[in-house]
Amino acid sequence: MKEFETIIGLEIHVELATSTKLFCSCSARFTREPNRNCCPLCMGMPGTLPVLNRKAVEYAVRVGLALSCRIERFSRFDRKNYFYPDLPKGYQITQYEYPLCKEGYFDIDTPQGIKRIGIAEIHLEEDAGKLIHLEDGFSLIDYNRAGIPLIEIVTEPDLRSAEEAKIFSEDLRNLIMYTRASDCKMQEGSMRVDVNLSVREKGTPDFGTRTEIKNLNSFRSVARAIQYESERQIRLLKSGKNVLQETRRWDEAKGESVPMRNKEDISDYRYFKEPDLPAIILSLEEIESVRKTLPSLPRERMERYRREWNLPWNDAKLIASSRALADFYEKTVQYCRLPKEASHWVTGEVLKKLNEKKLVLEESDMDPKFLGKLILLVKEERLTGSVAKKIFDIMFDTKEDPEKIIASYGRITVKDAGQLDQVIEKVLKENPKAVADYLGGKKKTFGYFMGEIMKETNGRADTALAKKILEKRLAFLYNNNNPIKEG
Ligand code: ADP
Ligand code: ZN
Ligand code: MG
Repeated sequence: MKEFETIIGLEIHVELATSTKLFCSCSARFTREPNRNCCPLCMGMPGTLPVLNRKAVEYAVRVGLALSCRIERFSRFDRKNYFYPDLPKGYQITQYEYPLCKEGYFDIDTPQGIKRIGIAEIHLEEDAGKLIHLEDGFSLIDYNRAGIPLIEIVTEPDLRSAEEAKIFSEDLRNLIMYTRASDCKMQEGSMRVDVNLSVREKGTPDFGTRTEIKNLNSFRSVARAIQYESERQIRLLKSGKNVLQETRRWDEAKGESVPMRNKEDISDYRYFKEPDLPAIILSLEEIESVRKTLPSLPRERMERYRREWNLPWNDAKLIASSRALADFYEKTVQYCRLPKEASHWVTGEVLKKLNEKKLVLEESDMDPKFLGKLILLVKEERLTGSVAKKIFDIMFDTKEDPEKIIASYGRITVKDAGQLDQVIEKVLKENPKAVADYLGGKKKTFGYFMGEIMKETNGRADTALAKKILEKRLAFLYNNNNPIKEG
């Protein structure tokens, strides 16, 4: 039985988060109103001349550095000629011969361990407009997207499965979001993946003929398309047929890839140097100053959390996957100095709550100091875990200091000293062993009693008052147990 191996290389387009387009001053913000952000230049009128957006270069360099690329001090634009209604100039300005970034890599976590995926290059180019095909046969054109800056990240053919490709794309998306070079909103098309795929018999040195599946806009489609296409190619080879080099389209509804066009040859595009733009020349100082704008990146943080704070790998990875979450976590730890407890809260209650409210951390306006405070209150046994969760719920909505919440929470609930005294009497009666421990010198049992009191009152006891009464009752018991010997 012949065994086959799948070879995958990805080309990932990412829209950069600049406020204006790559070569004109039109807004690059996403809008649903068609043809809102266009001008003669991005609509391809003759006589217009492009001016390069410096910020786009900076963002591209940031991603290049995050992917350990060599940043080229000389790079340049080329024209890629083709006709399509979404490309009004008749050519796309891109980088072909001299891309901005080269020869990087990105380490991903696969179930088999860390795998290094080569990054062949990253180049800067302009996006095309969007065609909307109507059912009556007419098509509409929206040029809002035309001229938005894109980077295209090209990997080496290092990926071997749908799973690896999915992990790579997800981790890459997290990394790019860290750099703030793009929001990577896949549903708005800010990140699109092309899959290049071939199969070969295991053990053969050469790659087989590849197909390219264009414009996948979810991780799920990336994985499904790869699965489908790899099986299709293997089937062809097994039945003695050849794989045709072509560009295919993924039909998500049907769950299959369909031919779109024969793959163009390089010569079809008649690439030549873009005469209307000067080369991009970067000094070492400029590159270094961009490097300084990069935050500590996910892998660095994951490793630090594990090494210095002893977090389990999966927790470290989850926290480090988002810059906002990781920053929040680190600030919480800074306050309470309890990294383990903080990680429980952040990966547990915090994420659960955000999920429930369909918010991202940035929108929640949560103060890490307050979470830190809450964690300390639990640590000091002034609160039980379940009460702390209730306080957290309130804190999430009101953004108040937990101490303040506890104070007012107590006031509106059980602040009646007589009522609390009854509860406390009951708790002490029901826990003779704990009472004996306490009286025998185990002062920690105090926290246990507080917990029981909270349980009895459904967490509604005024902590300060309960503490006072409990202390009084325990002191009374102590004195009665150890009557001062006279004489
Ligand atoms: P092109 O010039 O046609 O765009 P590139 O050499 O730039 O081709 O490669 C484009 C992408 O295809 C890269 O991600 C690369 O890793 C991948 N690739 C190249 N050859 C193969 C192959 N035989 N099988 C799978 N992927 C491949
Ligand atoms: Zn414009
Ligand atoms: Mg290429």
